[in-house]
Amino acid sequence: MKRVSLVFPMYNEAANLEALRRRVCAVIDSLNEYRFEIVLVDDHSTDDTRTVARAWARGDGRVRYLRFSRNFGAHAALSAGLRTATGDGAVFLSADLQDPPEMIPALIRKWEDGYPVVWAARAARQARSWATRLTSAVYWRLMRAAAPNAAPSVAADAALIDRKVLDAFKRVNTRNDSVLASVCWLGFDAAYVRYDKAARAHGRSGWTLAKKVKLLVDSVVGFSYWPIRAMSLLGLSCAGVGFGFLAYVVYEALCGRIEVRGFATLASVMLLGMGILMVMVGVLGEYLWRVLDETRGRPNYIVEEEYGRRTSASPCGRDCSEPIETGPAAACGCRNDAAAAVAQ
Ligand code: UDP
Ligand code: MG
Repeated sequence: MKRVSLVFPMYNEAANLEALRRRVCAVIDSLNEYRFEIVLVDDHSTDDTRTVARAWARGDGRVRYLRFSRNFGAHAALSAGLRTATGDGAVFLSADLQDPPEMIPALIRKWEDGYPVVWAARAARQARSWATRLTSAVYWRLMRAAAPNAAPSVAADAALIDRKVLDAFKRVNTRNDSVLASVCWLGFDAAYVRYDKAARAHGRSGWTLAKKVKLLVDSVVGFSYWPIRAMSLLGLSCAGVGFGFLAYVVYEALCGRIEVRGFATLASVMLLGMGILMVMVGVLGEYLWRVLDETRGRPNYIVEEEYGRRTSASPCGRDCSEPIETGPAAACGCRNDAAAAVAQ
């Protein structure tokens, strides 16, 4: 029997969790030819998400709950969930019910047709504000132009990925990456299923404009060199214009026609030139701090708490199928080790 993991990143989603539980359970209970695992990743919510999610995990052996030590962002949460997933395939959806769990069967059907990646592509009808749609359209347009290898051909927030894609994803260990862009970059044949994006059921979006801008810059800089090429081209064009102007000035001087004038022109040309230089230094800085960040080798997230049933064999060979409740992750990744360390 194939196993499917469902991964939900959560940040202050307490008000949505009961409806999510009901709808997810209704869907997976109707798919009895598969076994399901539910991975709830709490991105250090400050509301009751932890209590509600733990109660769900306590009453349902299919649920695993992970909590970060601070807010690391939705993509870190998604990445943690996918790395934890033990299924033959994993579906990731948002926990605010904007991506309806009822589309899971359609994603699975396409996966069964042999596609290792099945994107849940937003249909034209969307219950989202114009500002969100605009930022999303700008994001996807820029991504497709700047990093075509890392942008699905459809705008998507959710997907089902096969175990072989999951294993390949686990080998991508870069920081500051968009999970969607990483999955695209891996390659593999992809299909898509259309769905109507719903309005957020309760609460507010945790994606501030600043987080969206960071994701855009991260995605473009992480998967494309065109900002650096554009800088070189701009620099060359400016140098070309400067050289032409110099030739003109020398010619005018030789003909005795030059006069001292145009301070305002000179000032604006200098300001423009300096502005361009500053932008160029800024773009270089975007690449440079990422290099620094990578070399530091810090983890992408810290899990402070895990709760739920471990379904796969543990790396240390002990029986880890008992319910677990731990502190920080242990050396071999086995939660029993952490529990043993805590007990000592
Ligand atoms: N999310 C998260 N960490 C954050 C922000 C959001 O884990 O810092 C989760 C959130 O709970 C939801 C998903 O990521 O399940 C999508 O976020 P949200 O609905 O806030 O974004 P939007 O739909 O506005 O793009
Ligand atoms: Mg949402």
